[in-house]
Amino acid sequence: MAKSTKTPAGGKPETPRPRRAGDGADPGDSLRLDHDGMDAAGRPMPVFPDPTPLERHGPAWVIAMCNQKGGVGKTTSTINLGAALAEWGRRVLLVDFDPQGALSVGLGVSPHDLDRTVYNVLIESDVSADDVLLKTNTPGMDLLPSNIDLSAAEVQLVNEVAREQVLSRVLAPVLPDYDVVLIDCQPSLGLLTVNALTAADGVIIPLECEFFALRGVALLMQTIDKVRERLNPRLEVEGILATMFDPRTLHGREVLARVTEAFGDRVFHTVIGRTVRFPETTVVGEPITTYASSSAGARAYRELAKEVLAR
Ligand code: ADP
Ligand code: MG
Repeated sequence: MAKSTKTPAGGKPETPRPRRAGDGADPGDSLRLDHDGMDAAGRPMPVFPDPTPLERHGPAWVIAMCNQKGGVGKTTSTINLGAALAEWGRRVLLVDFDPQGALSVGLGVSPHDLDRTVYNVLIESDVSADDVLLKTNTPGMDLLPSNIDLSAAEVQLVNEVAREQVLSRVLAPVLPDYDVVLIDCQPSLGLLTVNALTAADGVIIPLECEFFALRGVALLMQTIDKVRERLNPRLEVEGILATMFDPRTLHGREVLARVTEAFGDRVFHTVIGRTVRFPETTVVGEPITTYASSSAGARAYRELAKEVLAR
């Protein structure tokens, strides 16, 4: 009888070398946004104007970053789109609406050490968003942090009157102070996400460019439609954002083609390439726009900020 033998794939395992910002060793850094006037999906690439400086701020336009699939780039896009908008002079509030607190961690905040978070704002009537929000190291960008406490809110809000409108109600007093609020949703379509959709004017749906990208998107679209019909007539799909795109693989290009076939103009022209720079930014707790300011990833989120403001 043949014995199955397991041989190591090729000698000694490589120890990953920690990279530094700007060492140029990452192939993802070479991803171009524009190929002779075409976007990555082969559509004509419009030129988005540089956003004009604002003389006055607010009231904020609220965007939910939403996809019930985990690991598609919601949190990464919230941090980096937010930082890019702040670079363009917009006042930005990021709302961590995932009990995992990854958005807070990604901005260098240690969620377990926080006395009060968005949870307290939702549940305790004497705590306001202003009491809890934190300044980030990015000028013009603030954070409403969260931690695991938020997971209890889902249960506690169930018996609340107008339980879907709680986030909308608690954000209302701070909207005049900001130009854009980005809500980083948790990977589910539960009550917290419905609260985010009810508080929002628009939704950005990040989609990872891999085989199952479109799985679940129909259900997400149905949920958005229901929230629009029943709770929030303002709600619109702002755009679908292709993330972790690898232009070197046929697979990546095919998935992007399928996504643009399915959603047409709703797919942003700006595509975010796959690069190890993003996981690195989580470790250092800062946006890519400062960590690797001239990298392809930073440029892509700056371009996305222009595209979002131009829509
Ligand atoms: P989500 O919030 O949807 O769960 P994240 O933004 O946390 O997704 O991303 C999941 C993982 O993928 C994280 O480790 C993140 O650093 C990494 N990641 C996000 N965007 C990219 C990208 N463009 N290229 C490479 N890795 C990425
Ligand atoms: Mg996340």
